[in-house]
Amino acid sequence: MSRRATGPRLRAALDGIPAYVPGRPAGEGQESFKLSSNENPYPPLPGVLDSAVAAAGSLNRYPDMAATALFAELAAHFDVPVEHLAVGTGSVGVAQQLLQATTGPGDEVIYAWRSFEAYPIITQISGATSVRVPLTAGEEHDLTAMAKAVTDRTRLIFVCNPNNPTGVAIGRADLEHFLDRVPQDVLVVLDEAYREFVRDPRVPDGIALYRDRPNVAVLRTFSKAYGLAGLRVGFAVAHAPVAAALRKTAVPFGVSGVAQAAAIASLRSVPALLARVDTLVAERARVAAALAEQGWTVPDSQANFVWLRLGEATGAFAAACEAAGVTVRPFAGEGVRVTVGEPEANDLLLATAAAFRA
Ligand code: PMP
Repeated sequence: MSRRATGPRLRAALDGIPAYVPGRPAGEGQESFKLSSNENPYPPLPGVLDSAVAAAGSLNRYPDMAATALFAELAAHFDVPVEHLAVGTGSVGVAQQLLQATTGPGDEVIYAWRSFEAYPIITQISGATSVRVPLTAGEEHDLTAMAKAVTDRTRLIFVCNPNNPTGVAIGRADLEHFLDRVPQDVLVVLDEAYREFVRDPRVPDGIALYRDRPNVAVLRTFSKAYGLAGLRVGFAVAHAPVAAALRKTAVPFGVSGVAQAAAIASLRSVPALLARVDTLVAERARVAAALAEQGWTVPDSQANFVWLRLGEATGAFAAACEAAGVTVRPFAGEGVRVTVGEPEANDLLLATAAAFRA
């Protein structure tokens, strides 16, 4: 046998997978406002922090793998059976588990593009093939084209509502019509990472929609409205067979005891956390209105960020923001996504955007 140092044989499916690019690499630009990762600008509530610290006293132990207390809290909060729940390391972790549960090489996964940048990465890791359906000119999901893209190899469809990075959300009638057209053996994942920021009453709550649809899974996260991005805890609500498959594909002990405790404390502090969300939503309205006043076209965002389609000027705008002390998220040649942050950060962004147009 050859002993040449060629290294282990790695799966060809991994070739060319782009690494997930964080909003700002660790250690860079710490002195600037970070409006690049759709984080919550508020630190944890004192009660949430206390619960996390108390749980940290048991760090020598493995966490409750069944997340019993968290499941009970989620079930009560969302009025769903415990068997319809699954938790994971962030909702991106749960999304990856959903792919593992449904897809393999040769299968197809449909999603809008541009959308959440993890979809192509986790799809490729699963060995499946991405089928990207361009957003409409109005930055909306083209649900008609997405339904038409279904083949007998389609196993999963991501619907990001509201969509990252455009912020645009799908209305109830359109989504229901789409769900009615998708074959029952295809899993539709309603990624609602930003659900708590939605104010348009036409946008449906996936947890209401999934109840009579066994092929729908709803993804939610503690990272955004609940402000626990650093703890990595997300969850899915889906019918029992899908939730059971998620428990099988979970990384053992993937959600730490600290994360479970903080998530439970957050669910018990929902009014205080949603009051913060209200403040951010008001800031979103202020930022969007001011940008429109400056002459920018800003799609209606139902999330905690706004989207500026800048095309070739994307890099220059992102650089101008960086120079002014605001880190935003550029998508080369397409546009820039700006998280709604603390008022001071938003003011700086608005001043930079005004100067850029001048
Ligand atoms: N879905 C969407 C649409 C997102 O934008 C994000 C975070 N950027 C996630 C899922 C993942 O969030 P987390 O893993 O922190 O729950």
